[in-house]
Amino acid sequence: HWVSYNSGRHFLQIPGPTNVPDRVLHAMSYPTIDHRGPDFQALGADVLERIKPVFGTTNPVIIFPASGTGAWEAALVNTLSPGDQVLMFETGHFAKLWQNMAQRLGFEPELIESDWRHGADPAAIEKRLSEDRDHEIKAVAVVHNETSTGVTSRIAEIRKAIDNANHPALLLVDTISSLGSIRYEHDAWGVDVTVSGSQKGLMLPPGLSFNAVSDKALDASKASRHPRSYWDWQEMLGPNDAGFFPYTPATNLLYGLREAIDMLEEEGLQNVFARHDRHAEATRRAVTAWGFDIVCANPAEYSSALTAVLVPDSVDPDALRRTILENFDMSLGAGLSKLKGKAFRIGHLGDFNDLTLAGTLSGVEMGLKRAGIAHQSGGVQAALDYLAETAGSAAKVA
Ligand code: PLP
Repeated sequence: HWVSYNSGRHFLQIPGPTNVPDRVLHAMSYPTIDHRGPDFQALGADVLERIKPVFGTTNPVIIFPASGTGAWEAALVNTLSPGDQVLMFETGHFAKLWQNMAQRLGFEPELIESDWRHGADPAAIEKRLSEDRDHEIKAVAVVHNETSTGVTSRIAEIRKAIDNANHPALLLVDTISSLGSIRYEHDAWGVDVTVSGSQKGLMLPPGLSFNAVSDKALDASKASRHPRSYWDWQEMLGPNDAGFFPYTPATNLLYGLREAIDMLEEEGLQNVFARHDRHAEATRRAVTAWGFDIVCANPAEYSSALTAVLVPDSVDPDALRRTILENFDMSLGAGLSKLKGKAFRIGHLGDFNDLTLAGTLSGVEMGLKRAGIAHQSGGVQAALDYLAETAGSAAKVA
């Protein structure tokens, strides 16, 4: 029932969409302008240029009015041809969805199975590529930050694995829940297509999606025989050169994007990443103190964007989330598919600070109490102690 007003701010602590800052909301409230006129041209040229460093690239970044799923499809249909093999790694729910899409589009995805508690394994990828002597595999597709598990894959090591196998496969990476939150280097890590979306680290509402493309990916798109129209990179790149789009762009979301890039530049990307690392560590300290396990089993792969919490068999995490929503006006993420009924997820990414984390963790701890779930006390305190000890310690990079 949407019958009563809840005072104060709703806490949107799912791992995306994230809280949209007032600055971005205000920026988006300006009148929509002529998308073929000079004001739009200046806006288009500006965001297309200044989004590049957010991906760690000097190459083109293509912006589609779509959710992240659209950018997944664009990455596949521009670089591959019907029947092409794609090596994928089952990090979790989103990796599986991308695999399903590849199948439906007429490619031949091969999924390396895993336990949903680890990132994509560079050694397993290297082994499989080394066996592929005829280079039947045309691409390796990996989710950088698996939003269903809170596990981050080591993309630089996967690049190395492909190189060690001396294999020409393209590297396609989904950064939908990591871009602008977790360190990422499209160029330096030798990624061919980076897929992303607007509604997480970029602090925008849903509705924009992205492909950062390497020269090798652009060459592949010229050779690709897969039918495509809306998603065709070449259709975009021509008009983009002048700051325009081949069709009506999402003008007001692009206002928001310009503001969000300003904010990332003002804070400094390295500071943004350090902030996320610190909030993730504080969250893990709270979860551990409560006595719960973290889904991610490898500390080297802990996600700085979200923490997925395993609950004992006797606990219904969805009932806990409902208690927290009804009593404390906070939304948390559910366990998805294999983790349904076994886990919940705390998002700590985007427009976020120490006190919003303190409020978030307090909401979880009060919810545990209210729902009568056995846990050790002191989780929030452990997080607050860590935040107090480390406040201002992440040396600000100008
Ligand atoms: N990939 C990842 C890692 C995601 O987290 C999501 C959404 O949460 C998607 C893909 C799908 O993106 P969208 O829902 O914007 O289409």
